[in-house]
Amino acid sequence: MKKNNSLFVLIIILCIIGIITNIFLMSSNIFNKDFRIQTEKITINDKNYSIQITQIYSSDEILNNGIDTIINNIKNSFLEEVKNDKGKLVIDYEYSKYKDIYSFHIRGIANIKDILKRKDYIIYYDEKAKKVLKQEDLIKKDYGLYTIFNSNCVDYLNDIDYDESLLEIEDKNYSLLIFSNDNIHIIIINNNEEISIPINYSYIKEYLNKKYFKVRDKIIKDTNKDVEVTPEREETIQENVDKTEELNLPKYLAFTFDDGPALDITTTLLDGLKERNAKATFFVLGNRAVNQGDIIKRMIEEGHVVGSHTYSHKNLLRLSLEEALGEINNTNDIIANITGNKPKYLRPPYGNYNKEILNNSNMTFILWSVDTEDWKKRNADLIYEYIINNVNDGDIVLLHDLYPTSVDGVLKAIDYLKGQNYRFVNIDELFNKKGAIAEVNKTYRYVK
Ligand code: ZN
Repeated sequence: MKKNNSLFVLIIILCIIGIITNIFLMSSNIFNKDFRIQTEKITINDKNYSIQITQIYSSDEILNNGIDTIINNIKNSFLEEVKNDKGKLVIDYEYSKYKDIYSFHIRGIANIKDILKRKDYIIYYDEKAKKVLKQEDLIKKDYGLYTIFNSNCVDYLNDIDYDESLLEIEDKNYSLLIFSNDNIHIIIINNNEEISIPINYSYIKEYLNKKYFKVRDKIIKDTNKDVEVTPEREETIQENVDKTEELNLPKYLAFTFDDGPALDITTTLLDGLKERNAKATFFVLGNRAVNQGDIIKRMIEEGHVVGSHTYSHKNLLRLSLEEALGEINNTNDIIANITGNKPKYLRPPYGNYNKEILNNSNMTFILWSVDTEDWKKRNADLIYEYIINNVNDGDIVLLHDLYPTSVDGVLKAIDYLKGQNYRFVNIDELFNKKGAIAEVNKTYRYVK
């Protein structure tokens, strides 16, 4: 009897604990409304086909419905196509986050009789507002944006075999956009393979909805503070500028051209520079230089400096140190094979590098103090105006010999600036004229 009693008490206690726990869980469900995602693997097997789905469930029903619709679309079009054939469908997903915005990329890859077909969808969700967003809520898509996308993609894919129609300026080509921490990523599906092309938000700032995106005006392109301008230094620069003006001494500019050589455009530029007795610096890509030895030789013969822009324009920060140095050293060898000398100067693509790359490069890194954004403007007059309004003695100006508009704009600027007592020198001469020495493993944005 005593034993039964204590068992009874124990059961009562357990019940009370159970009830309390339940109340606690319920209340935490009510009060803890954080957004959550869960996934579950689902497999459907039929005698002919199989479907594997990584299903996402979130704490938001509207988002779940949106995801379900996408998954059903993929599933139904597979079922329509597979009919009595053998086939397999895999649906999975990936997501990125920018602040409160999730980009869920859902993809279905179907294999029917060894032919692959894929479908990609992106659904956006604002965690804070608990709302599914449309792409147009986030970014204004128009021709201007697409030209920026296009030139960045062309640049990014230049060593990859791809179907050029994928980059044509059309809505359908730029519909898969993912918003991550620092970059928007354009997803291109080339031959069923996914390529993700990052573009810094600052390049497309004016197209982003300010409600969601806070983009700083200027990207901080490197972490190396070697040439940081302190207030005192700024003052001495200003003093020097004043003195130069006063004595009517010549002022020096180093125009630099990246991403080439680009056949006709570079040739036209070289002709124009020669006519004006202006010298410049060309940061060439190894994979372009390798087939364009003649034009590289011409650059040297006509007094320009040939620097390296790495082999294939990869973002060095996304590579291992070994790979990054490979991109650099390989290009040095290619240039040395053409000119007899390894280049001294390197311009890292996008201005991206770290201390490790710099310290192991044995090169002098040249960034820029004036960014014409010629790749974005594609308008000779705008480029001309920007140059003449923004240059000062000792500046290094960033341009690309990829666009005829850049060539026209810079030549026009040279004609004008000549009358303002400017001289146009290559980077070696800029250091010489300023009595400065280009040190190895150091970065320069200007020489003043
Ligand atoms: Zn470049």
